[in-house]
Amino acid sequence: MAQPTLASLTTLRLGGPVERLLTISDPVAWPEAVRAVGQRDEAAPVVVLGHGSNVIAADAGHPGTVLVMNTRGITATRVDQETVAVTVQGGHPLTDLVAWAAAEHLAGIECLAGIPGATGAAPVQNAGAYGQQVSDTLDHVTAWDWEMGRLRTLPAEACRLRYRDSRFKAEPGRWTVLTATFHLTHAQAAPVVYQPLADELGVRVGARPPVAEVAAAVLANRHRRGLLLDRHCPDARQVGSVFLNPPVSASQAVCWSAVGCPVHTDSDGQLRASAGWLLEHVGCLPGHQVAEGVRCSDRRTLTLTVHGEATAAGFRDALTALGERVREETGVVLRPEPVAVGAWSTVQPRL
Ligand SMILES: Cc1cc2nc3c(=O)[nH]c(=O)nc-3n(C[C@H](O)[C@H](O)[C@H](O)COP(=O)(O)OP(=O)(O)OC[C@H]3O[C@@H](n4cnc5c(N)ncnc54)[C@H](O)[C@@H]3O)c2cc1C
Repeated sequence: MAQPTLASLTTLRLGGPVERLLTISDPVAWPEAVRAVGQRDEAAPVVVLGHGSNVIAADAGHPGTVLVMNTRGITATRVDQETVAVTVQGGHPLTDLVAWAAAEHLAGIECLAGIPGATGAAPVQNAGAYGQQVSDTLDHVTAWDWEMGRLRTLPAEACRLRYRDSRFKAEPGRWTVLTATFHLTHAQAAPVVYQPLADELGVRVGARPPVAEVAAAVLANRHRRGLLLDRHCPDARQVGSVFLNPPVSASQAVCWSAVGCPVHTDSDGQLRASAGWLLEHVGCLPGHQVAEGVRCSDRRTLTLTVHGEATAAGFRDALTALGERVREETGVVLRPEPVAVGAWSTVQPRL
């Protein structure tokens, strides 16, 4: 049998051979998977993947175990008259979960419609869009702690969810999220806070349309803006946004807003400028060729797409070059959103 590669497990379709691939489809088989992995290897910690839509996998591959979470299932338990605790297996596609919740008229995650990936990966970067994020509704996760060698239940506060960040991202190799439990409500959707979504729905910001309508409008808006993962379109090899919206000081915010840069305050009160706007400001427009085989999507500068014979190293260098250009011309430092996995070096690179 051909040796598996990280390229076959990731949406960029980059990355070299994997020493050992374990796909977990049955939650009951988890203890068996732990036994199969054996002792924690500091030099090549287990790499956990969902759908590989937010990783840059090393050309050298991974000299250890890659665990792919493919467990499926949703269970719902009533908490009180309004609230339902929804426990989701780590490998369950997030898009399917959102569609299920919309069909059940359960509010709280409708704006996450269309975000690719597995539900267990969503807390890793506190996935969010259109003014909603995982931290709004996550109650707790169950996770395997590879450091302690035991199953842990982490309440949402212990996950340290921040803007596209979490404890799981900060402690790579330590955690595998097995289930995530959300508290959703039998109510109308939360008030719409994002103007393009309000426009899509034909309502005012602050309106509360039915959950299914909001989820459908999010999908329509993502489709128009090239934010859906379509394996058949020319931009299919991508990881979504490549940079986080960078934090800016109050004076930088005033300065950049004055010239048209969108600036927003994140849920921790941090001012953030639009990474996409900054890229365009320094001349990287949609379709811009950044490096051999790597260019900005035709529809969106902040999405880098891979074509032809690109390498993971080339993709990473393209990010570094873009970040450098923005820093030189604006003084603002961009940080990549996707995570580097595999044998980049003995130390995980700080991209
Ligand atoms: C077209 C497109 C649009 C996107 N839009 C958005 C968006 O609007 N908002 C947003 O936040 N993100 C977005 N993303 C990024 C990505 O889809 C999300 O971050 C998603 O949550 C990643 O899920 P995944 O299963 O693909 O994770 P992977 O890429 O497989 O993994 C990502 C990270 O999580 C870790 N991980 C995965 N599963 C587990 C687990 N069970 N336990 C512990 N660690 C785990 C991995 O080791 C890795 O560090 C987009 C990506 C694409 C391609």
